[in-house]
Amino acid sequence: MAGARRFPAVVPLTTGPVPEHARDMSDLDHLLVANRRFAATGAKDRVPAIPFLPTRQVYLLTCIDPRVDPAALFELDLGDAIVARTVGGRVTDAVLDDLAWISYLHEVKTPDEPWFEFVVIHHTDCGTGLMADPELRAGFVARGFDDATLQRTAVLDPARTVPGDVQRVLEATTVSGDVAVSGYAYDVATGLVTQVVAPTSRNAVRSVQPG
Ligand SMILES: [Zn+2]
Repeated sequence: MAGARRFPAVVPLTTGPVPEHARDMSDLDHLLVANRRFAATGAKDRVPAIPFLPTRQVYLLTCIDPRVDPAALFELDLGDAIVARTVGGRVTDAVLDDLAWISYLHEVKTPDEPWFEFVVIHHTDCGTGLMADPELRAGFVARGFDDATLQRTAVLDPARTVPGDVQRVLEATTVSGDVAVSGYAYDVATGLVTQVVAPTSRNAVRSVQPG
């Protein structure tokens, strides 16, 4: 199974000896210490007044892969973006429901404010690629999951899967037609994000169609 070689079963968590003082602390303990430092800064006070109007008018969808953390990729600060994350960065019913709710709030509560852009981001070397392996997939199907859905979820080439997901958002009538939707591919080797689908909205498409 060639694809599996990039995902070894055992990944070393540290590259050197663990410092004496850190041996009794779990990784989460370290995060909780960091949280105390964070709470003491002014970052929590430099946030948007209205949570569905982020500082940058973007709503990002990325994979849950820790290498694809949008805060790092786009140098985002607290409050800069709305972020959704799914396996593969795939558009799911739950993603559409959340987007529908936020777009509804925007329409009702802040109708005069500019709209955010919804951005679908798939990436290279995605773990969902393993779903293309029939043998591996069969074991998971045996646990009650749908084979065709799993097969469709695999991201083998972001340029091939992004357009369909962008289209799925554009066709979701529960989502406001004013939301611009775009699609991008992230290359984990270069760190670069490139556009696959230029931003368009359902209403913009409708307004240029004759009749
Ligand atoms: Zn991924």
